[in-house]
Amino acid sequence: TIALLTGASGFIAGHVLKMLLDKGYTVKATVRSQSKADYLKSLYPSDAKLSFAIVEDIAAPKAFDEAVKGVDVIVHTASPFHFRVTDPVKDLLDPAIKGTTSILHAAKNFAPQVKRIVITSSFAAIIDASRSADMMHTYTEADWNSVTWDQAIGSNPATTYRASKTFAEKAAWDFLEKEKPNFTVTTINPPLVWGPMVHDVSPETVNTSNASIWNLVNGSQTTLPVAPVHAWVDVRNVAEAHVKALETPKAENQRYFVVAGNFSYKEISDILLKDFPQLSGKVPTEVGTPAKKNFDVDNSKSKADLGIEYISLEQSIVDLTKQFIDWV
Ligand code: NDP
Repeated sequence: TIALLTGASGFIAGHVLKMLLDKGYTVKATVRSQSKADYLKSLYPSDAKLSFAIVEDIAAPKAFDEAVKGVDVIVHTASPFHFRVTDPVKDLLDPAIKGTTSILHAAKNFAPQVKRIVITSSFAAIIDASRSADMMHTYTEADWNSVTWDQAIGSNPATTYRASKTFAEKAAWDFLEKEKPNFTVTTINPPLVWGPMVHDVSPETVNTSNASIWNLVNGSQTTLPVAPVHAWVDVRNVAEAHVKALETPKAENQRYFVVAGNFSYKEISDILLKDFPQLSGKVPTEVGTPAKKNFDVDNSKSKADLGIEYISLEQSIVDLTKQFIDWV
């Protein structure tokens, strides 16, 4: 099977790539530059099943028209996840939304053989900020973020990011309904993703989600942060969900809230100091104003349909921090 993997240079995609190759897929990986292709090739020097297509900007018209040709399945992970926003539309909304519609159009027009497309959506498309903090709610795949376009283009980059993922996922489901293509779609909706990094990364370029742990380890914070979204999952489970979604008939046209559970930064600080006593003095222990716990999470659908066995918080944090230890 030939899989197209978009955004292959990313944190989550690095694990998806490894898992696809391990399972015997032939992978065409899209990256933004030849140097990113060269790096990934250096990880799998003798794997003849890995090739590349350069897609500089997923928001550009026809971005994927060439890359989709000849592939059997598609995993679309590429989307900006950062909060460095000067123009909400250009920086986050366009690449997320147009990137998604563009790969779906490309598959319909230039790859009629494609039957399955898996898209990395997010808990950002599920969690609803308009919900009252006083009412306890258990989030499932049935929930949708109710963010509006006006809120999306406002001045809060976190809101813009969450909106970018919400509108991108909605655009995918709308596409299916209107265009009736030959393929089905599955979305994977993880909350904060942590865990070991297999992509090209340095202290300066740690991806957004892992940076929240890096900032606890590197001595840059004196109190524990308040988690805006206190739900997490390990990257290896997220990658596994993408690959299983490609292969499980039941997963067609479904969304999966791939979530290990809730967390608090106090729990993480306790894990760090227990497993890495050398970090004493660096890792903050004092709790800032705690956010009100106003939601729970339900991962039963991902367990039942995809057979995911969730990695523990301690395992995930320890495996990630082993990499950070070399940098402090
Ligand atoms: P990364 O920042 O590591 O990966 C993002 C990927 O998207 C990179 O390959 C990046 O390329 C690519 N990309 C971004 N913008 C563009 C663009 N305009 N044109 C081409 N490529 C682009 O983050 P993650 O691995 O965490 O994110 C991967 C996916 O997972 C995203 O869809 C994100 O929204 C989603 N997600 C992540 C969560 C998390 O906690 N990490 C939680 C929920 C969802 P380059 O490397 O060249 O910058």
